[in-house]
Amino acid sequence: MYWEEDIETMSRKKLEDLQLARLRESVKKASASVFYGDLFRKAGIEPNEIRSLDDIRKIPFTTKDDLREHWPYGFLAVSKDKLVRMHSSSGTTGRATVIFHTIDDVNEWTNIVARSMYMTGMRSSDVFQNMMTYGLFTGGLGFHYGAEKLGALVIPAGAGNSKRQIQIMQDFGTTVMHVIPSYALHLFSVFEEVGVDPGNDTQLRIAFLGAEPHSEKTREKIEEFYGIKAYNSYGLSEMDGPGVAFECQFQNGMHIWEDNFIVEIINPDTLEPVPEGEEGELVLTTLLRDGMPILRYRTKDLTRIIPGACECGRTHARIERIKGRTDDMLILKGVNIFPIQIEKKLMDIPGVGTNFLIILERKDFNDHMTVRVEVQKEFFSGDLKQLEDLRHRIGEELKSDILITPKVELVEPGSLPKSEGKAVRVVDNREE
Ligand code: ADP
Ligand code: ZN
Repeated sequence: MYWEEDIETMSRKKLEDLQLARLRESVKKASASVFYGDLFRKAGIEPNEIRSLDDIRKIPFTTKDDLREHWPYGFLAVSKDKLVRMHSSSGTTGRATVIFHTIDDVNEWTNIVARSMYMTGMRSSDVFQNMMTYGLFTGGLGFHYGAEKLGALVIPAGAGNSKRQIQIMQDFGTTVMHVIPSYALHLFSVFEEVGVDPGNDTQLRIAFLGAEPHSEKTREKIEEFYGIKAYNSYGLSEMDGPGVAFECQFQNGMHIWEDNFIVEIINPDTLEPVPEGEEGELVLTTLLRDGMPILRYRTKDLTRIIPGACECGRTHARIERIKGRTDDMLILKGVNIFPIQIEKKLMDIPGVGTNFLIILERKDFNDHMTVRVEVQKEFFSGDLKQLEDLRHRIGEELKSDILITPKVELVEPGSLPKSEGKAVRVVDNREE
């Protein structure tokens, strides 16, 4: 049941003692870097002053811009000859940031990925197909190493080439896959095209879904289509990558490995901690990293801590499914909208397919939103009225949630652009 029972089920008191000891070390290590050396001097912080977990609040936040400005080596806390690996973020919101690891860092990261996979019921007898980009992106090598440590047979399939992915699944009896949720949806039509039913014609039993926001409805659709259990996997390159937080078999929030990270949730405007259980921006501190410790990193990801204990017996806090990044918020006619709200509504409407795109334009000093939605093929061969009714229904359902009426366009399955990596949900054509 547990990969490391003593750590995963540690009492909160012991866990906090461990965190404090590790935090003190981490602050000391960080002070050797150019960035934190300067920051501590300017803020008048002595690493020895950290005497309680609350003292973490004496340390200023670190942002993605800090990492960009001190690119590439300004955060290194060890000499370059100790490093064995470089990764980078995907660059979703601007210039990609880079992270460097020592061999101990890689080993600790590998351990939390293995721990996460084991928690879902994956075992050494599984055949694991990693359908993520290998290379600088952490989702490839991060999962690869974790799965090997667990002892599974790993197929480094990489991203894309959909028909080949399906062929591999069948030929080698893949039981566990790691896939970006929008790509798992995209594969529905490819399975249909090649006449393979994943529920009956493959041995798949588990999927790990990560790297981008997705709704509970999307998870359900994927579970149903493939006949599997799908687990939410959260991570970011700045905090290693995958393995930061992961769902257990109860699928009720993601356990965030607090022996490796300190978790804070702040109000992104006031920067103060939010009351327990409320939504805010996730802030993380590395506790075990030697090469590049990062303290109080503002992830920009919005979530909350789910109060109470998990049925699985693990004591590490659980975070809610990520709602999106603070940057993802669209402001239209004074209303704040997250793309995931639209996904959630769409996925609940019968007839809607697997992809959609939000297009924003400004005309006559007014913002306009168009939602382009793929719908099932049948709608295009049948009665035009049916198509019109569906279009109307989508408009009404969206309006009930986002409070504005978008223009809805229905398109055939597979006609919207599909990237192999993270889905692009919004095209913003409004000029600055
Ligand atoms: P980038 O920040 O450039 O996209 P990363 O590849 O490091 O680069 O991606 C990390 C980010 O991906 C997270 O900060 C988060 O916004 C998003 N992400 C990762 N996993 C999930 C998940 N399970 N649910 C929602 N968002 C996720
Ligand atoms: Zn649990």
